[in-house]
Amino acid sequence: MTDATPLTLFNSLTRQLEPFEPVHPGEARVYSCGPTVYNYPHIGNMRAYVFADTLGRTLSFKGYKLTHVINITDVGHLTDDADAGEDKMEKMAAQQAQSIWDIAKHYTQAYWADVAALNIRQPAHWSIATDYVPQMIAFAQSIADKHCYELPSGLYFDTSTVADYGRLARAATDEGEGRIDPVEGKRHAADFAIWRKTPPGESRQMEWDSPWGRGAPGWHLECSVMSRALLGLPFDIHTGGIDHREIHHPNEIAQNQAIQGYDAEHGHLDCAVHSGARLWMHNNFLIDRTGKMSKSSGEFLRLQLLIDRGYHPLAYRMMCLQAHYRSELEFSWENLGAALTRLKRMLMSAAPLRDVAPADAVRHPKLQPLLARFEAAVSDDLNTSVALTVLDEVLATKKVPAEEKRALVETMDAVLGLALLTLDREALRLRPKGAAIEESAIEALMAERKAARAAKDFAASDALRDKLIASGVEVMDGDPLGWEWKLDHGA
Ligand code: AMP
Ligand code: ZN
Repeated sequence: MTDATPLTLFNSLTRQLEPFEPVHPGEARVYSCGPTVYNYPHIGNMRAYVFADTLGRTLSFKGYKLTHVINITDVGHLTDDADAGEDKMEKMAAQQAQSIWDIAKHYTQAYWADVAALNIRQPAHWSIATDYVPQMIAFAQSIADKHCYELPSGLYFDTSTVADYGRLARAATDEGEGRIDPVEGKRHAADFAIWRKTPPGESRQMEWDSPWGRGAPGWHLECSVMSRALLGLPFDIHTGGIDHREIHHPNEIAQNQAIQGYDAEHGHLDCAVHSGARLWMHNNFLIDRTGKMSKSSGEFLRLQLLIDRGYHPLAYRMMCLQAHYRSELEFSWENLGAALTRLKRMLMSAAPLRDVAPADAVRHPKLQPLLARFEAAVSDDLNTSVALTVLDEVLATKKVPAEEKRALVETMDAVLGLALLTLDREALRLRPKGAAIEESAIEALMAERKAARAAKDFAASDALRDKLIASGVEVMDGDPLGWEWKLDHGA
């Protein structure tokens, strides 16, 4: 791609937009904090991966060779991000009376299914935390002398041993507001467990021997270890949801400073330079006022619920792309419906381009500026909502060579991931789980109604319409998108 519009990204560490300057020329190495696989992800969690995927796709579009790592947390994450509560995985396994390994396997598969449904590209590595326990122990041993202390409950990281602890969170470290300090003997409230010993008389399903006794690694340790092992320090970009800016990532940064001090044989490295990644990026939250996002509520907002209600998963991807990743996004069924309609429109406009061979280059004077504007939009801290409006313009452009238009739509869709040239319009019409009527019966009633109208038998036509409505079918006469009917979503 051109150098005319350099890629600029928002760095949470400096709270500023910064040009992307790769550590290794021509490459982009990205690490994304992945799910804790104790339950299904909710759609808010999936926003984090749509964001990371959009970032990865943009880096590829800009010509960088991307190496993306997403981890799977199958050990160590407590019900509270500070050192309080129980291990999420152990708790779920006990509740469901199942092996923790089976729980992890089941929910990892479920997460991967959502990843595929949202057209999120496969990263170069899915790193599974439990595969890295020996490296975690080795890492902890390297930094233990200078940076850690032992308590009966485990090995703790002393946050006063690194410069500028908590800079990412912009919080006062020691008296940090709202920080609970449930562990007796901790030197500072913000100190965190690197290794948690299994309490005497108890056993965990997942535990390993270590120099500090049998137990399990702390959650923060795993991301430092896996990112360093797979990408090398420093790498380019670390991503996660905005909640990680407060505890998890400051703790990863502290560990990264410590290990780099160990590698370089001098301590106390500068936080900004030795955080481990050049850029720390965070997506804002998806918020939901219906109260269904909590995993503890019975029917919670997971992708499958959207599908059961007849919304194609890519409508949710569209909904995410319509907002900036740094803005809160409010979920509502109406917004999702609007996103579905927009996707439908785009698919219809792109349909004639499907069988057209793409041109090698986009040169037409009407199209070239649109490519430049698209590139400027995504290069401006991933402004996908503007990019989508440019795509709308491309699709509406007339009297241009179809081959070039096809090439342009293909290029843009490679960044947005909406499957515009492969998804069938019919595939968007998912059948809501609660629907009582078969599609063939709807088509038959619609045909009967058409015949009645042609015969000017309006009483019969109205009766058929009422019958369809009573079965949950919305009759869409004169729909500009050419849809004759749709099944009510029942949302
Ligand atoms: P977890 O499985 O809890 O570790 O979370 C997985 C990812 O989802 C993390 O990057 C979180 O920061 C992110 N996340 C959690 N809740 C939301 C939300 N409501 N909206 C967007 N991202 C979220
Ligand atoms: Zn992490």
